[in-house]
Amino acid sequence: MKALVFDKRLKLVLDYPAPDLKENEALIRVKYAGICATDLEIIKGYMGFKGVPGHEFSGVVEACEIPGLIGRRVTGEINLGCGRCAYCAGGMRNHCPQRSVLGILGKDGAFAEYLTLPIDNLHVLPDEISDEEGVFVEPLASAFEILSQIEIGRGTRVAVLGDGRLGILTAEVLSLSGCPLTAIGRHEEKLAILKARGIETAAGTEGLGSEFDIVVECTGRAEGLSTALKLVKPRGTVVLKTTVAERDGADLNRAVIDEVTIIGSRCGPFKPAIAALKERAVDVRMLVSRVFALEEGIEAFQYASQSGVLKALIKVE
Ligand SMILES: [Zn+2]
Ligand SMILES: [Zn+2]
Repeated sequence: MKALVFDKRLKLVLDYPAPDLKENEALIRVKYAGICATDLEIIKGYMGFKGVPGHEFSGVVEACEIPGLIGRRVTGEINLGCGRCAYCAGGMRNHCPQRSVLGILGKDGAFAEYLTLPIDNLHVLPDEISDEEGVFVEPLASAFEILSQIEIGRGTRVAVLGDGRLGILTAEVLSLSGCPLTAIGRHEEKLAILKARGIETAAGTEGLGSEFDIVVECTGRAEGLSTALKLVKPRGTVVLKTTVAERDGADLNRAVIDEVTIIGSRCGPFKPAIAALKERAVDVRMLVSRVFALEEGIEAFQYASQSGVLKALIKVE
């Protein structure tokens, strides 16, 4: 099969072996896959990954043990647990110490004609969600994870820091709770997307003090944590979404003195993400900057790494 393969460098391989179908897995023909910040880190060597990257996708089930699933359009959760440990038994396969992660850790991903995933990881896409929109379920689920971790009431003042792909999705999702929300970014054209959705925005942090109950850090930059600690109120909460290869030495004395709670937040629940897309509570269509063919994958990665680009999609068929 055709695949984008990373091994020291990213290359297009025309005769990569199609994945073997294991027990309880489905073979999925990929339709669209999205390039995210993690993929851009992976091709710089993050996680020491070798193989096919890509973890945001939509596709069609070609083979599996459940006949009713064959031919259905799906997307899938990306963590594969061992199925035997206490985390897996407790429904926390995302934290299984032996896990593999689609396109990130020990498992070939979505920038290829085919991928496999356990049937349990799959979610059928309703007709209302297009193949292109289906790619956004995984990053949107990551935004919904915040709502499963902390209480956001109508009076909670929230700041979302960062106006990249995840920042925009996070601001859209948190605004559904009706809280007073400020999206803080650096790019007028990206903030304009949120403004059009009725969300208050700020270009930079100038003039903002320690005034937010919750600050969600989605900058993708090492200095994001320091900025978040400046914006959060005493006894407030900072939610960290950014993973960076190297962290700066953020002054955590602030966290001690002001008794700030810091919460890490990663992969989230797919069901509310699919419901929000289906009901058009969240709109992701304006986030697609450009669509590339799989054969143009190298160019797509170069394009996606430019600042100002929101989401580059790869169309696999
Ligand atoms: Zn991602
Ligand atoms: Zn496990």
